[in-house]
Amino acid sequence: MNKLGVIIPVRKGEKYNRNNEMDTMPKRNENKWNISLRTIKLPLLFILIFYSVAFWRYFATGKIFYIYNFVYIGTSLAIGIFLSGTLPKKHILWGRRITQLLIGIYMLGYLGFIRHENMQIEGFFFYLFSGIFAAATLHYFIAKIVGPLIFGRGWCAWACWTAMILDFLPWEKPTARIKNLGVIRYLHFFLSLGIVSYFWFVLGTRDLFNNTTTALYWLAIGNVSYYVIAIGLAFLLKDNRAFCKYVCPVPVLQKITSRFSLLKMSIDSSKCIDCHLCEKNCPMGIELSRYKKESKRILSTECILCTTCQDVCPKNAIKVTFGFDSYERKEYLRFGE
Ligand code: SF4
Ligand code: SF4
Ligand code: SF4
Repeated sequence: MNKLGVIIPVRKGEKYNRNNEMDTMPKRNENKWNISLRTIKLPLLFILIFYSVAFWRYFATGKIFYIYNFVYIGTSLAIGIFLSGTLPKKHILWGRRITQLLIGIYMLGYLGFIRHENMQIEGFFFYLFSGIFAAATLHYFIAKIVGPLIFGRGWCAWACWTAMILDFLPWEKPTARIKNLGVIRYLHFFLSLGIVSYFWFVLGTRDLFNNTTTALYWLAIGNVSYYVIAIGLAFLLKDNRAFCKYVCPVPVLQKITSRFSLLKMSIDSSKCIDCHLCEKNCPMGIELSRYKKESKRILSTECILCTTCQDVCPKNAIKVTFGFDSYERKEYLRFGE
């Protein structure tokens, strides 16, 4: 942002603002790795949790799937968290991106295209109706329904196979959000539920969904449509995450439980200098300053725990914290005029 308060577009090769704020960022990780005991504690915790779940499920069911699935996901997350904490500042985003690619490609490529599981939301509805406990069901419960009680919408920043492509588009610093456009995600959600219910309850064509070839086509067509719409919308609105804000139906589920998330971003007001860099760089258009004013953690269910705000803060005033909040519905978002 220059002295007139205008955001200066990012030049190729620069991650954040082309201005003095960037120069005043802590030198810690500009060019050097930051390896310490502190930076390996969290990755180790993730390894411990995921590996424990892997072996617990394996011994409970005898299915080897649980071992490689949870070990792979836990290791991918640990790698990304480790890199985010240790990489030189100019490469810091790669920690999250590497995890996104590792998990996104595994989910879509292996579970979807090789194992023929319909990982689209319609596939989840179908498995739910039929009572089949497929990998897709497990995935939706962990990543999108129950898991958000702990890690909020972290899935959207660290693992989503749609966003792993979107985050490479050039419009990282979004314009303000468009009011009421988010209603599309609810229409999308109920349309998907309606289509599956129609096939299931009205037409009774349940075999259609049991067929793995149909699941494969559904997954392929669904994903291609998502990518085309998401990239088109990003281009149109100059906002990488426009699809996430307005069209994707998944947050309809995530937002219910992520309200209670134990992990949330938090601002230390004693360090904050009100430069507003955090909210101007927030890909989800959250007004962080209003939460700071009310001495609240970032309660918005639009927060995807991407830690961009933490990375750009020149005073290291933002971090992810673990705690309980009283139930409050506070959505402070940055809308256009
Ligand atoms: S909102 Fe949808 S497309 Fe965006 S990251 Fe979340 S699940 Fe992926
Ligand atoms: S939290 Fe950091 S980036 Fe945000 S306004 Fe305060 S000092 Fe600036
Ligand atoms: S508030 Fe911070 S962590 Fe949450 S979406 Fe915005 S930049 Fe990402």
